[in-house]
Amino acid sequence: MHKVIIIGSGCAGLTAAIYAARADLKPLVLDGYEPGGQLALTTEVENFPGFPEGILGPELIERTRKQAQRFGAEFRAGAVASVDLSKRPFTIAAGKETYESETLIVAAGASARMLGIESERNLLGHGVSTCATCDGAFFRNRDIIVVGGGDTAMEEATFLTKFAKKVMLVHRRSEFRASRIMLDRARANEKIQFMTPFEIAEVHDVTKKSVELVTLRNTETGKTETVATEGVFVAIGHDPNTKVFRGQLKMDENGYLITHDGPKTDVEGVFAAGDVQDHHYRQAITAAGSGCMAAIEVERFLSAAKS
Ligand code: NDP
Repeated sequence: MHKVIIIGSGCAGLTAAIYAARADLKPLVLDGYEPGGQLALTTEVENFPGFPEGILGPELIERTRKQAQRFGAEFRAGAVASVDLSKRPFTIAAGKETYESETLIVAAGASARMLGIESERNLLGHGVSTCATCDGAFFRNRDIIVVGGGDTAMEEATFLTKFAKKVMLVHRRSEFRASRIMLDRARANEKIQFMTPFEIAEVHDVTKKSVELVTLRNTETGKTETVATEGVFVAIGHDPNTKVFRGQLKMDENGYLITHDGPKTDVEGVFAAGDVQDHHYRQAITAAGSGCMAAIEVERFLSAAKS
């Protein structure tokens, strides 16, 4: 029987693990599908406080993980297959094991949707990005592409014009899912060039480990063309990793967990931290902050249950 199990080992889960371990709760962290979360998929991180020269995402994760281990946090590989939150202790099945825990911190994150092209995966963190706030500043005076037709794409394209010389907004249809106001704002921006109806067929050049060109395919005619660009921002949405909690935890229509009073979910003893409950900020530092809050609430919950 565990006092606290933390699902997810990104910034939120690891920070929760540091705090829970230092409170002597011996947390067990279940790594999930993407150990280290989104930071593990990025390169340079320049906006995490305390690293004036910047730090590589995987290194930041590795250091945070070691910090949690130093205080006794335990880690297990394996994605969570099912949970039973109907009674305490909660039951969590992951890999071949079933665990029981008095409390649970869900820090399973949200995965950025990807186009699904191999070159895109290979160049992630090397010119391909899923986060304009994180990586925009690396593209000063460059020509870049933003892919997508929703509010995220409009917001990111508009934000990126602060840095880029030109932003090409590539969308697979000529109609947009984005709200009128955000679409109009992007259309009014002289630095944004709308390119529809195109999809990205290939990102080059994997051998050079940098983005130099993309092949675009017209989705109506099938014709392809190449366009020079130094960055590709994939802004086609995120999927919170909450499938296993469906029907057990309250979530919004997009699957994000709904929290109240900080990290509390609608089930007593279950807390949520990081992108799994935040589609607004999605930053490493905000995820870390909410992980800290979740661990503090776990400690308070367990103390109250004892007395
Ligand atoms: P959406 O699901 O709204 O839009 C995703 C976009 O990406 C669509 O245009 C879709 O194209 C395109 N897309 C999806 N998959 C692919 C693919 N494989 N290849 C190419 N294109 C693809 O996601 P968002 O993240 O934009 O928005 C999510 C929610 O968050 C919305 O409710 C939005 O309003 C909200 N939001 C609000 C903001 C604000 O108000 N400031 C900012 C950001 C988001 P297609 O249309 O053809 O399906």
